[in-house]
Amino acid sequence: MDTSWEARAEAASFYGFTDLPSVHQRGTVVLTHGQGPYVVDTNGRRYLDANSGLWNMVAGFDHPGLAAAAKAQYDRFPGYHAFFGRMSDQTVTLSERLIEVSPFERGRVFYTNSGSEANDTLIKMLWFLAGAEDQPQRRKILTRANAYHGVTLGAASMTGKPYNSVFGLPLPGFLHLTCPHYWREGHADESEAAFTARMARELEDTIAREGADTIAAFVAEPVMGAGGAIPPSAGYFQAIQPILKKHSIPLISDEVICGLGRTGEVWGCESYGFMPDAIISSKVLTAGYFPMGAVILGPDLADRLQAASETAEEFPHGFTASGHPVGCAIALKAIDVVLNEGLLDNVRTLTPLFEEGMARLAEHPNIGEWRGKGLMGALEAVADKDTKTPFPGHLSVSERIANTCTDHGLICRPLGQSIVLCPPFILTSGQMDEMFTKLQGALNEVFSNL
Ligand SMILES: *Cc1c(COP(=O)(O)O)cnc(C)c1O
Repeated sequence: MDTSWEARAEAASFYGFTDLPSVHQRGTVVLTHGQGPYVVDTNGRRYLDANSGLWNMVAGFDHPGLAAAAKAQYDRFPGYHAFFGRMSDQTVTLSERLIEVSPFERGRVFYTNSGSEANDTLIKMLWFLAGAEDQPQRRKILTRANAYHGVTLGAASMTGKPYNSVFGLPLPGFLHLTCPHYWREGHADESEAAFTARMARELEDTIAREGADTIAAFVAEPVMGAGGAIPPSAGYFQAIQPILKKHSIPLISDEVICGLGRTGEVWGCESYGFMPDAIISSKVLTAGYFPMGAVILGPDLADRLQAASETAEEFPHGFTASGHPVGCAIALKAIDVVLNEGLLDNVRTLTPLFEEGMARLAEHPNIGEWRGKGLMGALEAVADKDTKTPFPGHLSVSERIANTCTDHGLICRPLGQSIVLCPPFILTSGQMDEMFTKLQGALNEVFSNL
């Protein structure tokens, strides 16, 4: 019997989002611990994780302050809920802190265990409001192609990826507009300004066709993360926000990746100069040290949900571990670490170096564009740079690049035809050099062997 970690992983565990033929061929990587931005596997091999785990381990894998915050809270009060008019003191404090660092002058927070659940919670809030405010038809949710909002039924329906068709999703009433990716979606001879205007017209037309009073919300990531680190076209949010306002459609910012520093501002909506009606937070919220998500409602939605809940006696929703005191204690520490202990400053310091490194790699004739914001970005592989023609799918170019990187001790992520980088906020400039040197080597190796 094969008792290796690889065989044992294959025998009894399922993976999420994993290309199984490739894993059968290459074997599972089983990890035991981490040091700063590195993770170490059962064979003692060390990898620079240029994806911060899944965008979330921004303080690295051995942050003493976060572990100490968890330990102290486990010793003091290891678990409680937020039902029936009870909640832990840490939950109270975290909500105040989140409102304080949010763009809202006031608001209210609802806790979940994940980003997906936060998006589903938001949908249930909006549907609850639709009923309570005597607008039962106001249920449609607008998002964009390529958006990623999670995997639960609502969040998967919001997600604009073709793979959800294997589940018969999206559910009815979830509409996907065009991805505002100028390089890929812009027509020949269409300026970026004209492209943005076309995106805004599409929104206007959709609202006119569907009826403004049937639309519960427009939900958008400031920068699309799992769609391939795609920033919006110039002026996008400035163009769509007034249209949504005019029709009283809430704009929700899914900040699960962008929120708390990734884009170089505290929130992605600040990087792009728009004011949402609510914010969805997760991933960076606990720096990956606890599963937690949050719906942060701005003043208007908070007041309306409060009023509707009073009328209906209760908002019949919540998770057993919503507002878990250990998660809240960790989140309070994580917010401090990012905002006050230099991590956001480091994102800002590293961003110009990151942009330089990406631009250098994008000089390769098989890189069509590099794009990104703050400390997240993608390099998109193309067979022909001028025509932007992608490589044939069966060549699995981005997977080969990522696998070659893994062989050289660098973890990065293939997404479609692109390679995505979103390193931890604690990265040093030396580690950034290591990341780009290894990636450059992998690009040269894979492209010269095609
Ligand atoms: C990861 C992600 C989610 C889902 O979060 P989970 O914790 O995986 O459920 C939602 N929205 C965005 C933008 C994400 O990146």
